[in-house]
This record gives sequence, C-alpha cells and structure tokens, in this order.
Amino acid sequence: MGELGNSIQFLSGVGPKRADLIKRELGLETLNDLIHFFPFRYIDRSGIQMIGELTPDLAYCQIKARVLTRTLYGPSASIVSQETNPIHWGAVKRLSVMVEDESGRIELVFFKGIKWSFSRLTPGSTFIFFGKPQEFNGRLNIPHPEIDAPQEGTMAQNTLTGVYPSTEKLKNGGVTGKQMCRLQSAALALCLPEIQETLPEYIIRDKGLVSLQYALKNVHFPKDSYALQKSVHRLKFEELFFLQLSLLKQKYIRSRGEKGIPMPKVGPEFNACYNALPYSLTGAQQRVIKEIRADLISGHQMNRLLQGDVGSGKTMVAVLSALLAIGNGYQACIMAPTEVLAQQHFANISRYLSPTGVKCALLTGSSTQKERREIHAGLEDGSIGLIVGTHALIEDDVRFKALGLAVIDEQHRFGVDQRAKLWAKGPNGLPPHVLVMTATPIPRTLAMTLYGDLDVSVIDEMPPGRKPVQTICIGQNRRNAMYRFLRDEIARGRQVFVVYPLIFESEKIDLQNLQNGYEEIVNAFPLPDYKVALVHGQQKAEEKNFNMSAFAAGRANILVSTTVIEVGVDVPNASVMVIESAQRFGLSQLHQLRGRVGRGAEKSYCILVKDVKTTKEAQQRLDLMCATEDGFEIAEEDMKMRGPGDLEGTQQSGLPINLRIASLAKDGLLLNEARAYAQSVLDADPSLTEPQNRLLITELRKDKYVAKDYSNIS
Ligand code: ADP
Ligand code: MG
Repeated sequence: MGELGNSIQFLSGVGPKRADLIKRELGLETLNDLIHFFPFRYIDRSGIQMIGELTPDLAYCQIKARVLTRTLYGPSASIVSQETNPIHWGAVKRLSVMVEDESGRIELVFFKGIKWSFSRLTPGSTFIFFGKPQEFNGRLNIPHPEIDAPQEGTMAQNTLTGVYPSTEKLKNGGVTGKQMCRLQSAALALCLPEIQETLPEYIIRDKGLVSLQYALKNVHFPKDSYALQKSVHRLKFEELFFLQLSLLKQKYIRSRGEKGIPMPKVGPEFNACYNALPYSLTGAQQRVIKEIRADLISGHQMNRLLQGDVGSGKTMVAVLSALLAIGNGYQACIMAPTEVLAQQHFANISRYLSPTGVKCALLTGSSTQKERREIHAGLEDGSIGLIVGTHALIEDDVRFKALGLAVIDEQHRFGVDQRAKLWAKGPNGLPPHVLVMTATPIPRTLAMTLYGDLDVSVIDEMPPGRKPVQTICIGQNRRNAMYRFLRDEIARGRQVFVVYPLIFESEKIDLQNLQNGYEEIVNAFPLPDYKVALVHGQQKAEEKNFNMSAFAAGRANILVSTTVIEVGVDVPNASVMVIESAQRFGLSQLHQLRGRVGRGAEKSYCILVKDVKTTKEAQQRLDLMCATEDGFEIAEEDMKMRGPGDLEGTQQSGLPINLRIASLAKDGLLLNEARAYAQSVLDADPSLTEPQNRLLITELRKDKYVAKDYSNIS
C-alpha cells in the first residue's frame, strides 16, 4: 500500500494527539480507514432561511445575519460583561449573541469556545450561521452554530455536505464536522488514485454499479444528489454482498463438509405421538417439521435455527423431531436454560410421549446422586430415549449410547463452546443434528445476517384459539385502581405476575426496589386472603424453585419477581402481567414478559406501569406495546427506534457486526438482493476459483465482514 496505509497523523491539522483521539473514538488509524468512514446524513446547504420563519422542529437551519450585541454571563446568569466592562474570562460561563436579518432576531448561545467566538463575532459584521434551532423559555435560540463568513464559500461549492458520526470528546478535541470534511478531502486527494476495484467487472455491469473510486469520492463530496444516490447504493450493495457471500460460503462448506447421521425412517414412535395429539398442528408447525425431516435424511449434519414467537408451539416441533431421531435408533436431548423450564418441559413432554412407549428422563443440577446414576446408566445403555435437562446435560460424565439430535431451547442463554461440547457427544465421531430454538423475535434482516450460516425455520402462525392480551399503560396515580382490578381477577381464580426491572448498576438497590415493591404488594394483598410469592436472582436455587413452583401450582395468587421469569415459564392460569417501571425495559423484553400471559382460555391483560420520568422514546416503546402483539413487528420497530448509542449516527451500535454504511433496519430489500446475488455467484462457482471471481476471494480473505460471536444476542 502506498498512501492508503499511512497514519492519519500525517494529515495537516492532525498530529499525534488528535490521531490518538480519532483512533480511540472512531477506531480509525490509516487513511484507508478514514476514507471508509462515511457520513450518516447530508445537509443541503444551498438555501438560506429567514429568521422569522424558523421553528423548533427544524432539524437544522442556515441563516445569514448581522451581529447586534454580545453578552457574557457568569454562573447563575449574572452578566459579566456587555462590551464595555473589562472581561474576566475565568468567570464566563456562557456567551449570548443577538443577530438579525430583515425578518427578525434570534439569539446564538455558546458554552464552549467562548473566547474565540466572542472575538470573531464583532457587532455589525455579517455571517452565515448553521445549526439547530431550539426553544428555551418560550423563545428560539441556536446553540453552538457553525460560523462562516459569507464569502468563504466552502459550503457553496458542495451543496450537499456530509455529516459524520461524532462524539462529544471528538468535538471537544477540535475534530468538528468541518474538520472531518477537511480531513476527508485531504485524504481523498492523496489516496483516490490508489483505490482498486473490489468487485469483478461482470458484477459491476450486471448490477449497474458505479466504480469504487467514483463512489468513494461522491459519498464524501457528492457532485449532486444523483451521484450521491448511486455512490451510496454501490457501497451498500458491496458491503451487504460480501457479508452474505462470506456467510453463504461458510454454510456451503458446512453442508458439504460436515457428515451427519442419516435418519431415513419415520418410526412408529412419531406416528403414535402424532396420532394422539389433542390438536392438529398449525400449518407453520407442519412446514417446519418437513424442513427438519429433509435435513435429517440428507446425510449432512443439521444446523437449524427455529424462530417462533412465544406460544407459537415450538415444544411440539422439538418433540416430534426427537421422535424422528428415536425412530431411527438414536437418542435425543432437549436442553433448557433454567431448571424451572427444564422441569416444565419434562412434565409436558412426558405427557406427549405417553402413547409412544419412549422413556424420558429429567437431569438437572438438583438431581440426586442416585437419580444421576440411574440416568447415566440409562443413557449409556440406550434405554432412555429422550433426556430433558439443563447445562447438567453437557457435563463430561454424561455419555450417550447414540445421541442423534440435540435441541437447545432459548439459544441466547447458551454459549458457542457449550454447543461444541454437545457436538462431541454424538456416536462414532458423527456430530448430532442440532436444532436451536429461540423465541426472541429478531427482525428477518438481522436473522439473515446473524444466522446467515444456519438454516432458519420460522413458525409464523399462532395456534388457534389464543385470546389476545389487552395491554394498557398507566401512571403511578392509577395504582390503587390497578390493585382493585387485580383483586377482581384473583377473586375469579386467576393469578398475577408482578415484574420489577433489573437495573444492573447496583444489585443492592435493585433488590431494595424489589423488596419495597414486594412489601407494598403484601400490604395491599394481605394474608390470609392472599398469598404472594417472591422470586429473584439472589435466592438459592431451592428457594427460587420452591416459590416458583408454589405459583405454578396455584398455591400463590401473585408472583413478585425480577425478570428471571422472562423465559418460557408456562402458568396458563395467570391472566395478568404487571410490569413495574416499564419504561426501563427494552421492547423485546417487554414482549417476552407479556408472552407469559394469554396462554389460558381466559382473557388476559398486561399492565405497563410507568414512572414520572418517562422519556419520549420510552413512551414510544410503551405505545407500540399497547398497539401490537406481533413479535416480529415489534422487533422491526425496535430496530428502527433503537437509539444511536454512544456514537451519534450509527444505527448498529450494540450489534456484533460491523457495517459501515448499510443498515439492517433500513436496507432490507437491498440485503435480499445482495444475498440472492451472492447465492447465484456461488451456485455458478461454489469454490470461487473461476478467474472472474479472483477479486472476490481477495476481498473475503480480508475477513472484515464476518459476524463474530452472536451467542449473547437477546
Ligand atoms: P413456545 O413456542 O413458546 O415454546 P409452546 O410450545 O410452549 O410455545 O406452546 C404453547 C402452548 O400452545 C402450549 O400449551 C401447547 O400445548 C399449545 N400448542 C402448541 N401447538 C398447538 C397447536 N397446533 N394447536 C393448539 N395448541 C397448541
Ligand atoms: Mg418454549
């Protein structure tokens, strides 16, 4: 590499200190990094607005105005100087500048860079100011506008100016938006001739893309909006295409390379269970079982993700899949993330299995030594066909005669290495087929990316006869009314969940909140008429199980808990889910919690109790919860709404994939197109060894597109 590999530090205006800041804040080191750091939006700076027409809802404004007065304020708004007095800069906290055009006046406010702005903005002079108008005490002002002399004209040449992701620290360190534009301009001047095309010519032609050089130039400094659109399109397509190409290639290698246990038969066990089902499978369940069966007979190892909203009937799919393995002479296991869930699965599954004659066992951390010995023996001699359990299942002393299928429920609680441990338990060195089930609704585009190398099945249909859950959001002032409602529900024999948030900062405070809440509930619902159970993460396993089971068995009317009940617990008689401080929860968590009710025949309710301090964004989440029950819709919205995180302008913060320009939330269609195209390229040349695909291999080797550890996505 020539210039491209050089450090940003050598650009004029940077130096070691700023280079270090840019590296820390943005992760950019070389000029190549820099020119691949893109604006997240563009501002059309061709127009000048009139002060009289400004409103606080404008995202930004540009005015041409004359400076009238400058006022310096100290702490507590005392005036330090109004032009005439000598200035004590140490005491100055704020600069206020009044400017005017023909249509009116507006105040500009500065809290930083005061001395510099003060000296520049001499009364009587005219500037172009650019910034965001905001309302303060009923009047408009513009905090920290950018200042340009009217004749400077840097902005006039490029009517579209890129706005780059930035941080407070960058701005304080002098790396402003304008500075970033200057750096990009200098870097491009040095590097552009060195930029090599990354896509083969036939793809560029096929897809009607602009060249990489053109795209890089115009994404930073668009000639016009058409050039910008073509450039952004090219860069996004390239990014998504390589991401999908890399995932699909991995998937291809796996499906060819990883030999699996062939399971051609549908045995009598499957049929016995199927024929005894108290209901008919939904269309989605049937489809998914067909997909799984096709994997099992393929001779390759199955690696399938099963996505289905809470209550969509994944357990049945797991059981029928297990029975397919058993019908071919193998064993199956179903792993759950918690003991309570494992117990529940065991109880349900034993019922489903009773017509089949298959022996089922439960193994958890609290199984006794004697039970363990029996189970270990049963697994080794093959007399236990299906084992349900927790992490205990992957311990080294658990050996199977012939483990053919492993089902992992609620995948996000299991790490990748734990999955690997399971793989090693297959017979004759062959890995068992793996089915991972998750109820965490994630948007399709995200699934396609995070799990792009797995096969994905979706249950997108609920079993018939489910009653919708009515969701309402209330303030603290309606707490007593809520208690009256809960008493009515309890009087009708129903049960109630009350959930408190975990606020991580301090377990002690969290626990205190929970204790306070518990005491308040106990006061409002006193013995002997009411029984209230308490469950939280700090309890010992026995205590937790005891309280949980008391509620599950109907011995307690109310369960007060932290989010430990989030995953999978099934208490069909519970008809109300109360979520305290609901504004603190994320959408997917709220959705998971709500999924705990609405499982019985009765009408169910979810009550979101919000605190006074509820932000606009939080209120949006709560409104969405009241408006829809569709997990996928919620997940899509969640992705759109999710705040920008630490870095202004990045939509993807928090995700394990590093997309520079495309957005999984916004570019779903392009993602589909890129994936289909990558698939067609691989279909034509699976190993990418044809000469026209040489560039693709080079680019894939750079290894920057691969999604890394996705095990803790939730
Ligand atoms: P999840 O996908 O959340 O694991 P479950 O497997 O626990 O859902 O199923 C939720 C409830 O729906 C269970 O009580 C189950 O018996 C019931 N169920 C599953 N499939 C059907 C179906 N096809 N028709 C009617 N009820 C069903
Ligand atoms: Mg489940």
